[in-house]
Amino acid sequence: MVKQEVIEFRQSDLGTAELCLEALRRNYADPQPEKLSTDLVRGNVVHAAIEALGQDMIDGKRPTIDRMFNAAQLSQDWYFPRVHEDGWRETQEKTELIIMNNIEAFFEDVLPELSVPDAVEKPFRHLLYETETEAVYLKGTRDWDDPILGAVDWKNPGRKPAAWELQRGDIQSTVYLWAMAQEDGDLDKTREFHRVHLINGDVDWVTIRRGPKDYAALTEKVHAMVQLHKAKLPVWPMTWKGWYCSPKWCDHWDNCRGLHLGDKPWPAST
Ligand code: SF4
Repeated sequence: MVKQEVIEFRQSDLGTAELCLEALRRNYADPQPEKLSTDLVRGNVVHAAIEALGQDMIDGKRPTIDRMFNAAQLSQDWYFPRVHEDGWRETQEKTELIIMNNIEAFFEDVLPELSVPDAVEKPFRHLLYETETEAVYLKGTRDWDDPILGAVDWKNPGRKPAAWELQRGDIQSTVYLWAMAQEDGDLDKTREFHRVHLINGDVDWVTIRRGPKDYAALTEKVHAMVQLHKAKLPVWPMTWKGWYCSPKWCDHWDNCRGLHLGDKPWPAST
């Protein structure tokens, strides 16, 4: 009897695969310690504050901005001492200010659009497909399951992303809405994923719709990745184009392209 291999992809793995397949392969084969940056701290702290607020709402408590600030303070106290020496992209003071501005923007402009969530930070792991030789699962964690809106997700970027690019290529929305469809058993319905960008006190709200055609395309895409995985190649295709392939963003730079280009490959303006 053929042994069935269980293969799992995190939603973030599919995102990494879009940036560079070789980076994804190395994440598993050659994991590097995470270099905590102030960008990550900003996002994680705001997430912690929103999660605390959402959990209070689920528990029947009145949402207050002080609850968010208290949760943010606790989270900041944990994160800032752990920022990597190369991870200071902003000062602590500037990062704290942006966090505060984003929390205020969330409380004043986003929260009124939301209902008491069904869940916050909800993990999922569902079977995408299986054959005799493999069972393929997708997993992830949804920020906020809203009973009216659907999946809502927070981002704390430095600048507003292009909405048309997200509509065309965003994979997180496809995976999260596919997971919701698995959970309520209705794969035919078109659902909404709300990607809320908090940008230093400004709110940019992008609604992405996904349905059965997107889920079929997702299955094809993951199937292709499974074939790559099963080929047991020593290296996968490398993507140099775009922002990711740089010492600033890719944790594998030093052991990959950086072996040839060093840690200051380009003038500061490029
Ligand atoms: S350094 Fe560039 S090519 Fe190498 S894994 Fe990172 S993104 Fe890919």
